[in-house]
Amino acid sequence: MLETGKNVLLAISEPSSQATAVLSRQPNGDGIRILDVSDEYAQFWGGSRHQWLGSAPKIVHHEAKNQRLLSRLHNALDSGELSVGCSISGLDDGKRTPNVAGGSVIEWRITAMNVPGYTGNVLILVQRDISKRVEKEAELKRLATTDMLTGLINRSRFDYLLKHEIGRFNRYVRPFSLIMLDIDHFKLINDNQGHDVGDQVLAALAKLLEDNLRAADYCARWGGEEFMILAPETSLKQAVKLADKIRCCIRKAQFPSIGSVTVSLGVVEVTPDESQQSVMKRADNALYQAKEKGRDAVVY
Ligand code: GH3
Ligand code: MG
Ligand code: MG
Repeated sequence: MLETGKNVLLAISEPSSQATAVLSRQPNGDGIRILDVSDEYAQFWGGSRHQWLGSAPKIVHHEAKNQRLLSRLHNALDSGELSVGCSISGLDDGKRTPNVAGGSVIEWRITAMNVPGYTGNVLILVQRDISKRVEKEAELKRLATTDMLTGLINRSRFDYLLKHEIGRFNRYVRPFSLIMLDIDHFKLINDNQGHDVGDQVLAALAKLLEDNLRAADYCARWGGEEFMILAPETSLKQAVKLADKIRCCIRKAQFPSIGSVTVSLGVVEVTPDESQQSVMKRADNALYQAKEKGRDAVVY
């Protein structure tokens, strides 16, 4: 027989957008059933409070995953993992669940308790919609890793990716190359046309770079008018070819207010056990030589 205890629920559910349900394992092998739910629970998953009473609980969006979670609950109760005072918890991203329209990201926790008004131990399920927090965190991460003028990744994100790629190289020996690019005589553009035109050129050049790279390549604004490209699975020979393609493409392009610009590029392939500082230094040296050669050049 199912018991209800609305009075208990009112005591444990907060006025926030938190949904609560009281669950118990039925002694007749009928699985885990809902004894009571808060109004928020019914709003969260649809239907009325009354309709949920006696049903199997919905903990996560995906039906098969929900079934697996209920089996896990049974096992946790049998093994004693979920004895009074203990809880299990998880996150469920409804937005990424197939066949779920407009799903939310929920944080859930199930705690075994001895609650007055109920016979035996019950499980208290608490769910919170954290979609807004997740979105905000993603936006903050995007802002922290993006260069605002060009929309490319910024230097600190590039540093992180380079470090990651060097680690991968040392484990799996997959070749990868770096291209350092610097706009030629950019100061003259600023001096003659103004800083705003300079900014427009930087943004347009970033777009050209993105259009000419593969999805797997990373392109960052390294600083002022310098850009870095990390090309995974790319040998020195292939990277030089790519650098020259970029050089020619930029040379031919028409930029707002100023017409054409040229760039110089330094190319290096990472070698075994090379440090981040060393590979960056070599790229910088190659770029310096390209400038020395008279600019509008690729040096490797
Ligand atoms: P080189 O061919 O040797 O690279 O000469 P350059 O003039 O390009 O190099 P230099 O380092 O002398 O000048 C770079 C200029 O880039 C100076 C700086 O004011 C400008 N700059 C840096 N960041 C920005 C930016 O965000 N916007 C604009 N408009 N200019 C910037
Ligand atoms: Mg420079
Ligand atoms: Mg320059």
